[in-house]
Parts: sequence; structure tokens; C-alpha cells
Amino acid sequence: MNPIFANLPTSIFEVMSRLAVEKGAINLGQGFPEDDGPLDIREDAARAFIDGPNQYPPMRGIPALRQAVAAHYKARQNIDLDWQREVTITSGATEALAAALLAFVQPGDEVVLFEPFYDAYPPMVARAGATARYVRLEPPHWRVDAEKLPAAFNEKTRVVMINTPLNPSASVLPHEDLALLADLCRKHDVIVISDEVWEELLFDGRAHASMLHHLRERTLKIGSAGKMFSLTGWKVGFACGAPHLTEAFARAHQFLTFTTPPGLQSAVAYGLGKERAYFDGMCAEYQRGRDRLQTALEQEGFATLPAQGAYFLSVDLPRSGIALSSEAFARHAIEHGVATIPYAAFYANPGAPEIVRLCFAKRNETLDRGAEALAKAKRALG
Ligand code: PMP
Ligand code: GLN
Repeated sequence: MNPIFANLPTSIFEVMSRLAVEKGAINLGQGFPEDDGPLDIREDAARAFIDGPNQYPPMRGIPALRQAVAAHYKARQNIDLDWQREVTITSGATEALAAALLAFVQPGDEVVLFEPFYDAYPPMVARAGATARYVRLEPPHWRVDAEKLPAAFNEKTRVVMINTPLNPSASVLPHEDLALLADLCRKHDVIVISDEVWEELLFDGRAHASMLHHLRERTLKIGSAGKMFSLTGWKVGFACGAPHLTEAFARAHQFLTFTTPPGLQSAVAYGLGKERAYFDGMCAEYQRGRDRLQTALEQEGFATLPAQGAYFLSVDLPRSGIALSSEAFARHAIEHGVATIPYAAFYANPGAPEIVRLCFAKRNETLDRGAEALAKAKRALG
């Protein structure tokens, strides 16, 4: 077995979801909505699967979806994309991340990763043959440090991977931070893989800041229909960037999955035609979940961190009076009936902050019971 994977544990999301089922615990761990996404989109997919076609679609994705992605980003983020030369459809953002790394890096290259990171990044970087160079973001704002960042770049740096809004911290990189990164990438001839899968899930009236606005010629922006439509199991992703990047990207994509089920692609194209009100409504609904969980936890003496987007609320353990590590607390909490994700899973180096991540994309009753179970777990520590 390849040692990179042989030495890796099973992903924390799978472990926690399995434990939650085994122990009958409330699952606030893995990030997925409790309710399925819009019925009309699911019906559209069902019809597409019955009516067909169900044979291989074009390798870069069906034209209707590539056009819909370009139109969506124009309308929502004022980004101009040539759908034929700058958009590729993938089997989830996960495939897009893998194809991008395979396309852009080779052994000996360095890839800059920020801690905390989405857990898939380090093994993908390693398997692509590159070495990760870590830069740490600090709570509560998780901003890029203008003093420290330049030291992460050298002649071997080929790619920087960013994620905004960031999973797990639900923070966003402001324009200033993106501009700083863009300057460094231009100076060092570096490509940005910009994981923007949470772009449609922003709260308190925030607008998404895309890296494409700052570094148009060197950014591959990655999106996920799973997140846009609360259909996380669908695994339909988009990779958007300048023709020379898209060209290289598509070469890797063609030998990973080649394509994505056509019925899902056409249903996502249909979904992207939704009015702004749909996206606003979705944000409002998840924001209510955030507020409900945050209020319930704070009443129980938990200290939470700001959550600006995505599905996640973070609990600071030391400030909540809990002296356990994030992993130990996650193990303890599941015995008391609630699954969480320890931040340790999002760090490669020692010294991860003692924080746990909770998913609030759940029904009120689930959130209330989850908060109660977490309070019980806290009280049991004395
Ligand atoms: N990147 C980030 C930051 C994510 O949070 C996720 C999933 N939650 C993904 C990528 C994977 O997205 P997909 O399910 O579309 O593969
Ligand atoms: N991205 C989801 C999360 O952060 C999990 C996805 C997965 O399980 N691979 O919870």
C-alpha cells in the first residue's frame, strides 16, 4: 500500500458519523444538512435519469451546466468566465482539488497550506508528490499574517491552497488578505487553488470575496453544488480559471473520473437558474440554526467563536472552562450523546487550539438536544 494512505487514519468525519450511529448520539460532527435540498431540483434529477441521456457526457461537463455556472458567477460575484474555455465540471469539489494538485505540482514542489485546513488537503498534496509548507492562522479572526506569510514562499513554491469561507472556522478571508496573497503569488510565479465551496453560505449580510477578483490569471476557483443546494451527497463540483489553467486541469480530470453523471449535471444546471431569493432564503435558514445553537450553548456557559458562514460553529474549550484536549472532549461528548469534530483533525503540527466544531445545519429539535447533551458532557467534568 502507498505509505501516505497506509499511515493515515480513516477520516474524522466518517469516524464520528459511524460512532454517532453506533451510540445513538446526535450528530453535530460531519457537515451535512438534516433535511434534503429543494424538492424541485431532486425531481428534475429524477426526470433526467429516467428520460436520459445516461451515457458519457462531454469530459468537461454538459454545456448547459458549464453555461449555468458561468452565468451564476457573473450574476452573484461579477466574475466573467468563458464557459467553453474556463469551466470544468467535476465529481464534487474533492475531485477538483485532487485534479488541480495533480495538474499543477510535481515532486520537489512546495504547496503552501494554511492551518486549520480542510482535512483532505495534506494527503492530496503528499500524493501529488509535493511538500506542504504550513502557515498558521490564529483565532478568533483567522487572518493572514502579513509579517509571517512571505517566509512561506521560495523558489520551490508552486501552489497555495486557500479555503474561504474556511472549514472548520467559518471565517472569511477579507479582500486585503486576498490582495496580499495575490501579490506574493505574482512575485513568485505561484498558482492559487481557491476552495470556495462555502461561497453561497454567508451570514449577517456578508458578500463573498473570490480570489478570482484578485488574481484572475493564476487562480483556479473551486465550487460545489452540494453546498449550494444542501445536497452534499451529490458530488458535483466546478473548477473555474483561465484557459491555460483549465487546459492543464482537464488533462488530470480526464483520467480521474473523466465525467460526472449527466442527470446530476442537468439538475444542478436547473438549480443554478434559481432566483436570488433562493440563496438568500438558504442563508437565512442556516443563520437561524447558527443563532439557535450559539444561544443555547452560551446559556450553558460555552464560549463560541464568530461563525460567518458555512455550517459550523466552534466552541473554545479552555474559555468554556474545559481542560481537555479537543480530541479527548470529542470522545467524552460522544459518550454523553453528541458527536463533534475536534480541531486537531485540521492541523498537521502540534499545538492545535483546543476547539471543537459543531454542525448547525440541523432541525431545531436536533440543535436543542445536541446543546443539551453537550451541556451534560460539560457538567460531567465537574
Ligand atoms: N472543500 C471544503 C472546504 C469542504 O468543506 C468540502 C466538503 N464539506 C469539500 C471541499 C468537498 O466538497 P464536495 O462534497 O463537493 O466534494
Ligand atoms: N466536508 C464535510 C465536513 O467538513 C465532510 C465531508 C466528508 O465527510 N468527506 O464535515
